[in-house]
Order: sequence, then C-alpha cells, then structure tokens
Amino acid sequence: MTIYIATTNPGKLRDFTAAAPQRISMTTLPGLKEIAPPIEDQPTFEGNARLKALYYSHHAPGQIVVADDSGLEVDALDGAPGVRSARYADDAGYPGPPDTTLDDRNNLCLLEALRNTPEAHRQARYHCVLAAACNGEILALGDAAVEGQILTAPRGAQGFGYDPLFYLPQYHRTMAELDATAKLAFSHRGRALDSLLIALLPLLPSDHERSHAT
Ligand code: IMP
Repeated sequence: MTIYIATTNPGKLRDFTAAAPQRISMTTLPGLKEIAPPIEDQPTFEGNARLKALYYSHHAPGQIVVADDSGLEVDALDGAPGVRSARYADDAGYPGPPDTTLDDRNNLCLLEALRNTPEAHRQARYHCVLAAACNGEILALGDAAVEGQILTAPRGAQGFGYDPLFYLPQYHRTMAELDATAKLAFSHRGRALDSLLIALLPLLPSDHERSHAT
C-alpha cells in the first residue's frame, strides 16, 4: 500500500521511509513541487499538520496523504521556536555570517537566544504531529516528542536542522552524531509515524480485501 507524504525535505523523507513497516510504501506526493504550499498559520503543530493534510489530499483524490508539522520547543524560551522552528532566524531578523545555510542561521540564532541560560536550564524537545487525510477528511493523527538539551556549541555532521545542538543525555550524543537508524529508534518522527499507523491501519482495507474489490 502506498501512502503519500506531503514533504520534499530529504531529512524527513529519510526518517519516514525508514520507519514505515514493509507493507507500507511511503513516498513524496507526486507533483508536490508544483503545488503552491498553503500558509501554515496555525498556532499548534496539530493545527498545521491538519491544515496541510486536508489541503494536499485535494490534490490526490482517493489517496491517503500524510502531512507533518514538527519543531523544537525550548523550555527557557517558553516553547519557542515551536511552530516557527524553520523560520526562527528570519522571524528574529538574525542575519548570521555570510554564506551560512538557513539551518546554520537558525542554530546560531538559538545559541544567541540561550547565551545567558545555564546548562541546567537548557531542556528542550522535538515534537512532531502527523495527520493523514483522504478526499478532504482527516482520518487519523499521530503525535510524539523526544526530550533533550541544547548544547552551547554544535556537535556532529549528520541529520539536519537543530540536530547538532540537540543533545540526548541518555545516549551521550547529539542527534547529529547518530546515524539514521539510531536516530529513528527514538526520534519524534519515527514514533509519531508509529502512533499514526496504529490509528490509521485498522481503518483501511487489507491487501487481501483490496485485491478482491475490483
Ligand atoms: P516544518 O517543516 O514546518 O515541520 O519545520 C520543521 C523545522 O523544525 C525544521 O526546519 C527544523 O528546523 C526543525 N526540526 C524538525 N524536526 C527536526 C529534526 O528531526 N531534526 C532537526 N530539526 C528538526
């Protein structure tokens, strides 16, 4: 069975395809790059995930389309960057050094915001909400978070986004120091997908039923 994901982010796509069970093929929604994205103006991850799943499901009639919204919540910043994680540096008007990537600017902006925050108060979590929709109707939601701490300097070269600053105390590593398989074992995205599929799969016809429906 194919489930379409409304993302072209290679980091997210890698996480989803690796986390999906064998009988589910997760692939980018065909033609996604040509579809004008909706404005993500909801104050919560769930609101934005629902909005995107509903919107994109109209572009693939009869198909199951999954959309996600995710980001970093830092306790000392009252939950920021939160739903604005991808646009944190831009929102703050933080220019960063020349020739830096958006991810690098976001990370530098975060370090600046936490400059005076001691190690004991740098708790944070990655939070991910997934919504599955078909023909403009929400079928199921998935939700998960992973707890960590924000370091004072980046470590590691894997992953994306805030991974080099996101430290997992129980593994003594940042997310960017883990390979894709290890990251998935406890990542917010992999676990949100598990919880989505637990809710979604019982609603779907089995492979056997589908093959006899035509
Ligand atoms: P979205 O595309 O609106 O969901 O934006 C999510 C943003 O949150 C990304 O651009 C990253 O900055 C951050 N983010 C979400 N998940 C992760 C992750 O697994 N690793 C690193 N950063 C993440």
